[in-house]
Amino acid sequence: MKNKNSGLKTAVILTIIILGLLSTLVVINSMRSETTNETSVGKLPPTEGQPLLGENDAPVTVVEFGDFKCPACKAWGETVFPELVDDYVDNGKVKFSYINVLYHGEESELGSLAAESVLKNSPDVYWDFHKGLFKEQPSLNHDALWITQEKILEVASNFPSIDVEKLQMDIEQQSAIEEVNNDAELVKEFNIQKTPTIMVNGIMLEDPFDYKKIKSLIEKELEGGNK
Ligand code: CA
Repeated sequence: MKNKNSGLKTAVILTIIILGLLSTLVVINSMRSETTNETSVGKLPPTEGQPLLGENDAPVTVVEFGDFKCPACKAWGETVFPELVDDYVDNGKVKFSYINVLYHGEESELGSLAAESVLKNSPDVYWDFHKGLFKEQPSLNHDALWITQEKILEVASNFPSIDVEKLQMDIEQQSAIEEVNNDAELVKEFNIQKTPTIMVNGIMLEDPFDYKKIKSLIEKELEGGNK
């Protein structure tokens, strides 16, 4: 009897230990998937000919694939982006670039054509125009038509260095269609599935609003990590 009892005890204790180990494994695994939030693409999108904010020789590059019609892009630009600029762009650690995504058809294309034209002809005010156009995105009914030639020219007229007549001609003649198509090719090449998509060097974030993760990726890259 005594022996039988102690055998049972041992079995119970062993079961408890095994269950404990199993649940620890489950917790570790779920922690891992919670903290990953990244996909390594292995390469950086080419930023030649793209708008660039920050120092040319900044060691880390952050790229946004965005769409002027996309509400999450507007939100990202108003919340995460200013932090990124304050913490890393202004001190020369990060340069930031933006690639157009045309998820919303004609309006996305119109906004992109205008932005590319401003980049070509008045690069000094590109980022202000970019911000100005996003600012016009309605906060409630963003699906309603709002990127029109009229709206674009109205935003552009706030910047003395933009030749509004030239911009109008550029839009009508689709002067920057090559640049817009080039961006669309990059969207395909990098298999962009949503906007905004944020990349830190060759690493794509699953959640672009996870600024803690963006920071940790930048810090790792600054230390020469991920190599
Ligand atoms: Ca572009």
